[in-house]
Amino acid sequence: MSPIIRKLIQGFAHFRERYFSKRQDLYARLVKDGQKPKVAVIACADSRVDPAIVLQVEPGDIFAIRNVANLIPPYKTEDDRTYHGTSAAVEFAVTNLDVDHIVVFGHAHCAGIQNMIDVQEGKPQHNHFVQQWTSIASKAYERAQAEKPGVKGEALARCCEKHAVLVSLENLRTFPFINDRLKAGTLEIHGWYLDIAKGELSSYDAASKTFLPLKSP
Ligand SMILES: [Zn+2]
Repeated sequence: MSPIIRKLIQGFAHFRERYFSKRQDLYARLVKDGQKPKVAVIACADSRVDPAIVLQVEPGDIFAIRNVANLIPPYKTEDDRTYHGTSAAVEFAVTNLDVDHIVVFGHAHCAGIQNMIDVQEGKPQHNHFVQQWTSIASKAYERAQAEKPGVKGEALARCCEKHAVLVSLENLRTFPFINDRLKAGTLEIHGWYLDIAKGELSSYDAASKTFLPLKSP
């Protein structure tokens, strides 16, 4: 057996012994009453940014949607042959689970955003689905260049990662069932950004148009 598969199986044994066994009431309630998370979190599939670990939540707390580069595509229904995985998860979170909050959970050193940058800069790509998907964030590249003309390398990547969070927030507003709830005040959307090198979390502040550190209340 490969070491990583052994690690996963041992991890599950630890989960049963040390975690599940201490939360049997919680799990029983979540089975009986169903899940009622108040928050949907759209995070990257990156192995370093698991929102349940970073935010230290319990089962039932967050509805986690993970994809490449934590992107939300624009609302689109005309092509029914396309499989809208992320849009389906967002729709379920909002219209079935009735979440109160959606958090777009961006992060530093995102390979998905770097892929988008490479495509924008004409570097040859050896993927099909990734570049198609990350093109959702191409506006972030244009905005980063407009904000900081000539920005390159790591600084460009950090800037694009943050702008991509804002593009996803804008795209969330294109979903009619989200826009309706935002207008009614029954849903809030948030743009967060995790710096995995520093272990810092910040939130987009519309008033100052910057990401400000999130502090424990
Ligand atoms: Zn990422």
